[in-house]
Order: sequence, then structure tokens, then C-alpha cells
Amino acid sequence: MHRIVFLGPPGAGKGTQAATLAKELGIPHLSTGDLLRTAVRARSPLGQEAEGYMRAGRLVPDDLVLRLLRERLAAPEAARGFLLDGFPRNRAQAEALEAVTPVDRVVAFEIDPTILVQRLSDRRVCPVCAAVYNLTSQPPKQDLLCDRDQAPLDHRPDDRPEAIRTRLEVYRQETAPLEAFYRERGLLRPVRADGTPAEVAARLRTVVEEGMPGATRTTSPPTKRPSQ
Ligand code: AMP
Repeated sequence: MHRIVFLGPPGAGKGTQAATLAKELGIPHLSTGDLLRTAVRARSPLGQEAEGYMRAGRLVPDDLVLRLLRERLAAPEAARGFLLDGFPRNRAQAEALEAVTPVDRVVAFEIDPTILVQRLSDRRVCPVCAAVYNLTSQPPKQDLLCDRDQAPLDHRPDDRPEAIRTRLEVYRQETAPLEAFYRERGLLRPVRADGTPAEVAARLRTVVEEGMPGATRTTSPPTKRPSQ
């Protein structure tokens, strides 16, 4: 069973890593940001309510996010686990999650904050498949078109300077304290998030496999107990 939470500031690479790892583990990648952006594009009542908060870089009210997430966590695809990316974002959400399901691992992405602003400004995303690109380090093959479906890439409104500042501040105040919340529960595993996506992915696999019997790929070495 893999019930994993990715914790880390915007721009740390959670989405990129979550997409790959979830596929490898055969579990759903549940990104509340992606679910909310889909609702905004669909102009659903929930999406319309969420849009202003997102544009400003503020957190969407907890009840809206929980409404989106609950049914995904209860769906049959999540029976073998899930990878939560961008949730929980504050203590109330962490407590709500605890009431719905246990979690096995919380991976904390650790990164120098000065790198984040550059990464977010250079980020472009595919509005169709949510693939993430970086104009400097991971550019699309064709200028500003998604490699998979050729859709024109978006520059998210909240990846612009003013909203970036707000998002980093919201992270510092509301989300970062969750590290202590999960450390107290013995679930927190820090991972250095600098370097290339492949380097981060390798560190991540070590952390995810550790202490999970029969956890992942058949090529992995015998499972180690976590060192205390
Ligand atoms: P992300 O794609 O995770 O960076 O999320 C983009 C935006 O969606 C955030 O800045 C928030 O406005 C909103 N959002 C995503 N996840 C949550 C959450 N768990 N709680 C509240 N708002 C969220």
C-alpha cells in the first residue's frame, strides 16, 4: 500500500515527480491544483468560486478542496494507494485527511527558496494533459507546444511575480508547519529537491521504497528497515 503525501513549496518539482512516481507505482496522482484548474476551465460552480483565490495565489477554502478530493480518495482506483500533491496545505486539511485515511509517507521537498522564483517564472504547463515544462531546463521540443498533444502551453496566471510572492508567503505561514505535524507522527521523510528531475527521482525512490515490504519494482534490493 502506498499512501503518499508530497509536501513542499510551489516550484519544488512536486508535480513533475508525482506524475512519474504515481505511474511507476500504479496509483492515482491526486493534484488538488490540477483538479481545481480543471474545475475552473469547466466553469463549474466550484471552479468559479475557486478561480479568484487561485489567480491571487491564495488558498482556496478548505471545504471546496475537500469536496473535490473526497470522492477521488474513495474511488476504486485509490484502493492500492494514492499520491497526494498539493494537499494538505494547512493544519485543518491535514486533520481532515487523517479523518478520512491513514498515510504511510510524507515526503518533504527541500530546496533553496531563491531557486523557486526562477523555476516558477520559467514554468509552462499543458492545459490538456497537465505536463510541466521549464523554458530553461526542460523546454518543449516545439516552441511552446506540448510534446504529447501539441496544445499551446499556458503560463499560469499564478506563476507571475505578484502571485508567486503571495504563494511563497502562504506556504511559509500555513503549509510549512505541517512538517512538524508529520514529523511528530513519524511520517516525514526529507528529500533534497535541487538538481535535475532524474536526480530528484532517484533520491525519491530510495525514500519511498524504504521500509515498505514488497514496495516497488522487482529490481529493487531487499527492503531495509528504516534506520532509527
Ligand atoms: P498548485 O498547482 O498545487 O500550485 O495549486 C495552485 C493553486 O490552487 C494554489 O495556489 C491554490 O490557490 C489552489 N490550491 C491547490 N491545492 C490547494 C489546497 N490543498 N488547498 C487550498 N488551495 C489549493
